Amino acid sequence: MSRSKWSWAIVVASSLSAFGCTTAVDDGVTDEETEPTASSTSEELTVSCTRHAETGYVSGSAKALTAVTVDGKLVEEHTANAYIVMAQAAKKDGIYLKVVSGFRSMAEQKYLYGCYTHCSCNSCNLAAKPGYSNHQSGHALDLNTSGSGVAHWLSLHAAHYGFKRTVPSEAWHYEWWGGGPGGGPCH
Ligand SMILES: [Zn+2]
Repeated sequence: MSRSKWSWAIVVASSLSAFGCTTAVDDGVTDEETEPTASSTSEELTVSCTRHAETGYVSGSAKALTAVTVDGKLVEEHTANAYIVMAQAAKKDGIYLKVVSGFRSMAEQKYLYGCYTHCSCNSCNLAAKPGYSNHQSGHALDLNTSGSGVAHWLSLHAAHYGFKRTVPSEAWHYEWWGGGPGGGPCH
């Protein structure tokens, strides 16, 4: 990973390390633990378009991708642009979207899978086999769907921005595979 100093500052400021056992880097069941509250100052959408060369995985095979930083999390750049356009629209409606988990490195996915298989951390939450998560392919984002009005807003508007809920049991897990109005700040 090649996070800039600035990105790290954002990560530290906005959430705990992605490797802690109590953070929300799984497929979202622990979203509540890091949920921004009404009194938090995290309504601001924070974006850094600094590009990071990362190794993603698709069906077990390594694939180079570029990630930028949104809400302190690495997010694949095309997914990030689509998300940012959506988050800005939500904000106009008074709804504050947050990325709880975006792109995951192999190390992060291995950690989460280990938690799941050993039931030793991360609340024993389900995690995809390393190399097979769409958080590794760059298409998946876990969003703050327990935030005020967020799940409802997404149910009405996410499709317009190209985002789809793809895991029926996970209200927070959205994927972007293209579509939506285009635009976004990172190029
Ligand atoms: Zn997810």
